[in-house]
Amino acid sequence: TEAELAAGRRAHELDRAHVFHSWSAQDKINPMTVVKAEGTRLWDGEGRRLLDFSSQLVNTNIGHQHPKVVAAIQEQAGKLCTIAPQHANDARSEAARLIAGLTPGDLDHVFFTNGGADAVEHAIRMARLHTGRKKVLSAYRSYHGGTHLAINATGDPRRIPNDYGDSGVVHFFAPFLYRSYFHAATEAEETERALRHLEDVIQLEGAANIAALLLESVPGTAGIMVPPAGYMAGVRELTRKYGIMYIADEVMAGFGRTGKWFAVDHWDVVPDLLAFAKGVNSGYVPLGGVAISGAVFDTFRERAYPGGLTYSGHPLACAAAVATINAMADEGMIENAADLGERVVRPALEDFAARHPSVGEVRGVGMFWAIELVKDRGTREPLAPYGSSSQAMDAVVAFCKENGLLPFANFNRLHVVPALNISEEDLREGLAILDRALDVADGFVDA
Ligand code: PLP
Repeated sequence: TEAELAAGRRAHELDRAHVFHSWSAQDKINPMTVVKAEGTRLWDGEGRRLLDFSSQLVNTNIGHQHPKVVAAIQEQAGKLCTIAPQHANDARSEAARLIAGLTPGDLDHVFFTNGGADAVEHAIRMARLHTGRKKVLSAYRSYHGGTHLAINATGDPRRIPNDYGDSGVVHFFAPFLYRSYFHAATEAEETERALRHLEDVIQLEGAANIAALLLESVPGTAGIMVPPAGYMAGVRELTRKYGIMYIADEVMAGFGRTGKWFAVDHWDVVPDLLAFAKGVNSGYVPLGGVAISGAVFDTFRERAYPGGLTYSGHPLACAAAVATINAMADEGMIENAADLGERVVRPALEDFAARHPSVGEVRGVGMFWAIELVKDRGTREPLAPYGSSSQAMDAVVAFCKENGLLPFANFNRLHVVPALNISEEDLREGLAILDRALDVADGFVDA
C-alpha cells in the first residue's frame, strides 16, 4: 500500500541518518528496506515481492510471521513480558524441557543466552572451568559469533581485525574435499588425513593445555561443508582420548536446518556441550543457549557458575521457542526439509553443475546447500576472492533480487537456505530464478 511505501521511505531515511550497521563501512552500504514479511516471502521498500532463500541470516527456519508463534508471543506479552533469571518461569522451564528432550545423549540442562555468540562464549567458559585448561581449538573456515572470544574462535576474515593474540584459540583445518588442504582425492582420504592433522595439532599444542574443541557440525557461513563419513566420530574419539571438551556449534545447523533436529544426529555423535540459537525460535525474539552434559553439569553442582545475563531465559523468547518447536514437530517441518532437500534441491543443483560452467561444486543436506562459483573449473579459482565480493558476484545477486529472489551470498558462494516449511512450488520457483542467475555468472567464466 501507499502508506507502507511511505513508511518504508521514512525508515530508510532515518536509517541512513542514525543507524550504525554491523560489519560495514557505513558510507558504502545501502540497506534494503523491508516493510513486511509472511511465510517465505517479504516485501521491500519499493513494493517488490521477494522469495526469501536466505532465511535472513539462516534463522527463520519456520518462515516469517508463523501465526502460532506470533500468537504465543502475544499471549506471553499479555501475561509476563520479563522476569529476572534467578526466578523460575513456566515459559523458560517448558522451553528447557523441550530442548533437553531433543538434544542427543545426556545433554539434559540448558543455560539460556541472548544469541549464538554468547552461547559459544559460555560453552567455552564452562569447558575451561570443567577442565582447568585454557586453550581452545577451532577450525579455519568457520563462524562462531561477533563478541571478543567468539570472533577470535571464528576462522574467517572478520577475525583478523579483532585478533589481539589474547584469546587462547588455535585454529586447525577441517575437511573440505573440494579445496583439500591434505591433497586428498577421496572422502576417505580427506577424513583420515584431517583426523591425523587434528591429532598432530593436539599433540603439538599440548593436550594438557586444551580445554575445548569447538566445531560447527556443518560449517554454515563458511561454505556448508558437510563432513565426510567418519570425521565426526573421529573428532569425538580424539577429544575423549585427550580429555578435551567437544563443543558442537549448532547455532546455524541446529533445529532442523540439515533435515534432523541437530546436525550431530546424522553421525550419532554426542558432544559435551552444544551451542544453539537462531532456529530455536527462528529469531522471532533473540535467544540462544548451551545444552550441557551430565559431567559438565556436575562441575557446577557445588561450585557456582561464574556467568549470567539479565535476560537469560527471557519469557518472550522462551514462549516463542516452545511454540516454534511444537509447530516444527506438529507440521512435519524437519521431514519436509529432508524430503525436499533430497528430492528437489539436490537434483536441481546437480543439474546446475552439469549445465553451468561457473558452478564448481554443489553440496549440502536438508535445507542447507551451497553453490560454489568459479572462474575456471580446472583451477577452481573462485568467482570472488576469499574474504570479498566481485563484480561477477554482485551481478548475480542483483539479478536474483531484480527477479524476485533474495539469496544468501558469501564471497564466491550462493547458499540455498530457505525456510524448512517452504512449499515445493515456491522452492521450484526460486531454483528457476537461480538457474537464470547462473547464466549471468557463466558470463564471467574465463573463456
Ligand atoms: N555460530 C554459528 C555457527 C553462526 O552461524 C552464528 C551466526 O551466524 C553464530 C555462532 C553467532 O550467533 P549470533 O549472531 O546470534 O551471536
